[in-house]
Amino acid sequence: MRERDWTKILGWPGYRVYQHEINEKAKTLKLWVRRKSSNQKLVCSGCGQRAPRIHEIYEREIRDLPCFEFQTTVVIELYRVDCPDCGVKAEKIEALPSNAPFSQRFEDAVGQACESAPVRRVARQFALPESTVRALDLRYLERWAKRRRKPALWQMGVDEIYLGKSQKFLTVVSNLQSGEPLWFGWERKKETLDRFFETELSARQRKRIEAACVDMHEPFRLSLEQWVPRCSLIYDKFHIMQHANEAVSEVRRAEFFRKGGAARELIKGKHWLLLTRWVNLTSGKKQMLQQLLGLNRRLMKAYLLKESLDRLWNYRYPGAMMRYLLQWMDQLRWQRLQPMEKLADMLVKHLNGILNYCTNKIPLGVVEAIDGNIKAILRRGRGYRDMHYSCSRHNDWPLPRPNSPPSRKPLKMPTSSLSCGGPQIDLR
Ligand SMILES: [Zn+2]
Repeated sequence: MRERDWTKILGWPGYRVYQHEINEKAKTLKLWVRRKSSNQKLVCSGCGQRAPRIHEIYEREIRDLPCFEFQTTVVIELYRVDCPDCGVKAEKIEALPSNAPFSQRFEDAVGQACESAPVRRVARQFALPESTVRALDLRYLERWAKRRRKPALWQMGVDEIYLGKSQKFLTVVSNLQSGEPLWFGWERKKETLDRFFETELSARQRKRIEAACVDMHEPFRLSLEQWVPRCSLIYDKFHIMQHANEAVSEVRRAEFFRKGGAARELIKGKHWLLLTRWVNLTSGKKQMLQQLLGLNRRLMKAYLLKESLDRLWNYRYPGAMMRYLLQWMDQLRWQRLQPMEKLADMLVKHLNGILNYCTNKIPLGVVEAIDGNIKAILRRGRGYRDMHYSCSRHNDWPLPRPNSPPSRKPLKMPTSSLSCGGPQIDLR
């Protein structure tokens, strides 16, 4: 085969093959390439400007896509240029994205393989160490992230994820409209969220944020008030219902210890039953729950209260929502359900943030979905040491992926919904 044919097969624009070597035993193919005489434009890698003079010529050996069964390496002739601004610099070449000995299309192939397979498998497929595969994948994702247009941030979600005893908490900031996590940070302090606002957003981007959906965690509120004072805080259903479930569990625990004997046996191991919503239970499970609730009036009351709190988010007007909440709290009276009373106290304290939901409709499912997805991905990866990598990996799954441009158009919010909505009623 002639060198010209190899040039066609290699398909590097502006370069031609001038020598090749095939090792049949080791199944390797090695190609030597240099610039075509028509391709004389030299670009400085420091400033990206055209460089007039060549300083010296050197060679780099780079791994490229395999050719049939042959593992292919390309020895490329490169120039160091004399740049008037930067001095002596290597020339910039599109096909070679980094100092690592891989071509861009090879890195892309590895990155794409990582999308649907674990790193270990990809490493075996390309005969590379796992750490190299991870580095290639990260570069691939970074290139992808740089290229794509990021959806504007109008509605942000701030969430904390409990990782376990040693790592404690992870703070996740996400874009609620596009459904993608934007940033991960260790711990859940005010400083954690401060760091996001400081490093990730410009003053103009911060001004754009209209609503933030947060857990009822005080440090987050303080940080938001400092950095985005005009944005309205929303305590969403998902987080509040988590607290309600905890209250029901507490009632169950208290009853569990109070009762003895057969009742204790019956109540044992029924934790999940109380946390599942009535509509999601099968008829058999409903019967089981009824039996359980029939035994204990307090537990039944707590369960019913939790179930009815759910309806609070069906209301569209702050006044109606408020009225429903007051009715709900009326039912608490004389019940001596301390955990539920604590919950009610908390709701009153964070009343504005709850009523804000009426004026700023945030997609409730997204908050929950992001939370679940991150937990799933951390489980799947058995934890990540590098949170930057984890965030990049997460971004391509399950919503936008590198291969398909993000298709979701962010919904434009009416600007009239900026102010803190809802009547300011003192309940004390
Ligand atoms: Zn330069």
